[in-house]
Amino acid sequence: MESISLKQLKMPLSIIIIAILIGPLSIVLTTMSTSNLTGPNAYGYDNMRITGDKQSYLKFVSAAEMNGEMNNTSNSAQTQIPESAKGPAIPEKGYLVEEIRDNLYWVTDGSYNTMFLVTDEGVVAIDAPPSIGQNYLKAIAEVTDKPVTYVIYSHAHLDHIGAAAVFPRNATYIAQEATASELQRAMDLASNTSTIPPVPTVTFANNYTLQIGNQTLDLDYYGDNHMPGNLFIYAPNQKTLMLVDVVFPGWVPFVYLAISSDVAGFIKSHDIALNNYDFDIFVGGHLTRLGTQDDVKTQQDFVNDLEKAAVKANSEVQFADIAAEVGNTSDTWLLYSKYIDAVDQNCVQTMLAKWEDRLGGAAAFMPTHCFTMTEAGRVEPSLSAILQNVTMPDIANATGN
Ligand SMILES: [Zn+2]
Repeated sequence: MESISLKQLKMPLSIIIIAILIGPLSIVLTTMSTSNLTGPNAYGYDNMRITGDKQSYLKFVSAAEMNGEMNNTSNSAQTQIPESAKGPAIPEKGYLVEEIRDNLYWVTDGSYNTMFLVTDEGVVAIDAPPSIGQNYLKAIAEVTDKPVTYVIYSHAHLDHIGAAAVFPRNATYIAQEATASELQRAMDLASNTSTIPPVPTVTFANNYTLQIGNQTLDLDYYGDNHMPGNLFIYAPNQKTLMLVDVVFPGWVPFVYLAISSDVAGFIKSHDIALNNYDFDIFVGGHLTRLGTQDDVKTQQDFVNDLEKAAVKANSEVQFADIAAEVGNTSDTWLLYSKYIDAVDQNCVQTMLAKWEDRLGGAAAFMPTHCFTMTEAGRVEPSLSAILQNVTMPDIANATGN
């Protein structure tokens, strides 16, 4: 089995992380700069920023191509993804819009996705991924001529809400209060505030129900997971649950457990989704397709196995052994680097034995997931407590290895 060093990953990953956060913005910025935006939608992005973002995006494209993620014609084993990771084809126009059920629609570009609800009093748009950008408005216009009257932010990350400027400024913007605080902080720091999505004016601490006619959206907050303020958005009529950047149907999460700010909260989110909501459609915000309850259960299994593999790696790899191997050195960080790599490789081998062929992107991102679970497991009190209850894994034996 080929193991990948964290160090080998650092360079392209940092480019991908930056580019995923900033890169897609270039698409909407380019679109916006070339279209005739007037009135409330006209945001004043400056040309310097557009130029910089284009460069970031190109870096992202080239990095992704190097990883084989965007090369559909290659026969390289690295490009193989499980059938379950594949989604519907994206039309030439660059996006797909489909009704989920009863006036609730999802829109996707194959990398990002989100949903909107058409009501008697206008459209409720959730999030605004820059990679979809102006196509979000085109998708809405395909199914209704009603205006967007409400905008809900799942969380504050710009790769999901950075194109909110496409919506009318007189719409009502709703989010959990931590999301509003973060956007207000950004407004206060920014030299060009037009690049920051509108700060929500309707905020709440724990729960908010948006009731329009006979259509309902429940917005629920259970504490930090992927990021403070990240919401569970539930459409009861449509039995659809949206939770962004936690569960990735058909795929492993984005790097480092989707750069979760609270790993214990990230783990708990799976239980909350499955225990608190009656849903059969899941919208995760990313990648190729809609999900189901089974996708949430699959990722719950994945995370459970990752906990076990992390406990195993942390107990089997001894710092003293690594120090003895490295020998006399005054470079303490070198020692830690060797130790972290050894723990990570132990965890990666355990995990890939079971998951390499089951979820898209497993080989590419497993070292980052192992790093997050093992490192956070050593230092974060809540995660450390969770891992106390984890028994040593039998994952390798389960697959006959
Ligand atoms: Zn996010």
